[in-house]
Amino acid sequence: MTFLLRPAVLLQLLGALVILCAPLVLGEFMITLMNYAGVSAIAALGLVLLTGSGGMTSFGQAAFVGIGAYATGYLSTALGLSPWVGLLAALALTGVIALAIGAATLHLGGHYLPITTIAWGVAIYLLFGNSTALGQFGGLSHIPSLSILGHELARPAQIFYPIWITLGLCLLCASFMLGSRQGRAIRALRGGGVLVESLGIDSFRIKLCLFCISGLLAALAGWLFAHMQHFISPSTFDLKNGIELLLMAILGGSGYVYGALLGSFGVILLKNGLQDLLPLATSQSGNLEIIVFGALFIGLLQYSPRGLAPMLTGLWPFRADGLEKGGGPAPTPLPTRALPAAGEELMRVEAATKRFGGLVAVDDVSFRVQAGQICALIGPNGAGKSTTFNLITGVSPTSSGRIFYRGRDVTGVRQRDLLELGVARTFQHVKLRPTMSCLENVMLGAYRRTATGFVAGALRLDRAPEAAVAGLAADLIRDVGLGDSLHAPAGTLPLGKQRILEIARALASDPALLMLDEPAAGLRALEKGALADLLGRLRARGVTILLVEHDMEFLMGLVDWIVVLNFGRKLAEGRPDEIRANRQVQEAYLGGAE
Ligand code: ADP
Ligand code: MG
Repeated sequence: MTFLLRPAVLLQLLGALVILCAPLVLGEFMITLMNYAGVSAIAALGLVLLTGSGGMTSFGQAAFVGIGAYATGYLSTALGLSPWVGLLAALALTGVIALAIGAATLHLGGHYLPITTIAWGVAIYLLFGNSTALGQFGGLSHIPSLSILGHELARPAQIFYPIWITLGLCLLCASFMLGSRQGRAIRALRGGGVLVESLGIDSFRIKLCLFCISGLLAALAGWLFAHMQHFISPSTFDLKNGIELLLMAILGGSGYVYGALLGSFGVILLKNGLQDLLPLATSQSGNLEIIVFGALFIGLLQYSPRGLAPMLTGLWPFRADGLEKGGGPAPTPLPTRALPAAGEELMRVEAATKRFGGLVAVDDVSFRVQAGQICALIGPNGAGKSTTFNLITGVSPTSSGRIFYRGRDVTGVRQRDLLELGVARTFQHVKLRPTMSCLENVMLGAYRRTATGFVAGALRLDRAPEAAVAGLAADLIRDVGLGDSLHAPAGTLPLGKQRILEIARALASDPALLMLDEPAAGLRALEKGALADLLGRLRARGVTILLVEHDMEFLMGLVDWIVVLNFGRKLAEGRPDEIRANRQVQEAYLGGAE
């Protein structure tokens, strides 16, 4: 009940009520306009997810809308089938085509992916225009109206409710899905492939699923459009409309589901207003419309580059992070891994070598890490420490040599599979998702410990596992000393604390081997003490740690074993006191550093 009384929820309910009453007070023209806005918002929502959250720009969304519209248009006119059969066909056909296009193009990086969307967007448009069965550029007409329980929804006011209820449900499910386990993975995609894979997430699979979801939303919009408009032609689904849908997603606010609604309303009302006003001023209104539209758009993006939605944050009642879901069943703790017995050989690096062209960054390096110990990799800048980390964790392949983990040859094993085996890491250059809360960043680390899929997330059937993950993440954040910042965006923490947050995220995967690349860089003396204390506690719990560090004082009282690298080669290894006494090390490293 208290949930219903919150201002944000009241505002939502009020908005829904206004929309529900609209057909009672508005004229036919305005209702038609709202229907267009509602249908466009469904297609734009696909782009809010794909582009705004997942970071993949597509200019081809209108083509997917077209596939949905033509599928149902053809079946219901040429074959006389029910629009409901048309809906299934629209979704199935668009899903299969999105899967095929996605599988072929989503591995492309940078600007190549958006460029391919222009290519297939135009190709699909031309296909509509040149296909005789689809009426070529003349299109298909006499598409029947939808009927529900024998009631034909022929007039704009009749199809209004199905459109807006569909849109409402889509917004709600999209919002739930973005807040769920797979939604976190989607939002992490912008952190880059190395980060996502290090969290145990199959980035290609996530992208492909997201691409299909976005396509299915387009198909749904196309289906509604065809039966609302009763007529379709290729020009509605061309590149210009693809760009317009993208503008709606960006204008509304990339990454905010209700931005789709704001964006579609904004664009459609603006276009309509300009069409009314400009003819009063000039006879060239068609050309001027595009110019005014563009100028207004640039102005808005200058003023609020993240779109309209961030200006209204706080109005959406559902938090993106999982703690609120804790109201459900009491969290059952997640299963944990059996840690290896102290003294067991956990990791063995054998003659690992990495060449970058002529540069040998890691040269014939061998060492072992024993379970239950803290082992440090030290050496001057450029000695090859981070590269060694990348070889061990499967980020980059070895040029030669082998890596063994718990007796198993893991050379060439992918990052995400290694995480599954119990190797988690942090990065020298912090890789957090700065706009996500600390809690969500750490929850990302536990991705492989639960199994909720996209549909379960969208329907919020994930309360129990999400509560368990949120509880675990909150405990870990408190444990590393950042309990005050649970809900703060990770990017607002000072750099030193961001490193510590990365440790909590790595711990969330329940690792047997924790690999930390310069965890103490940027920490003050007190914070370094707390970090040493934390690492000691983790060791006592049976977690083995391999870390890169420069500060010998920090290492002396803490670590059990040190491996020294210099110019990519192993210079020495031994207990800290042995390393401190080693003349070669003093000359090569300590002498230079102190
Ligand atoms: P450290 O972490 O010990 O400071 P790195 O492992 O980062 O050192 O780098 C070791 C050497 O390898 C450096 O000379 C660096 O310039 C080079 N190096 C690292 N990564 C690459 C890369 N991707 N391409 C080319 N050279 C690289
Ligand atoms: Mg380094």
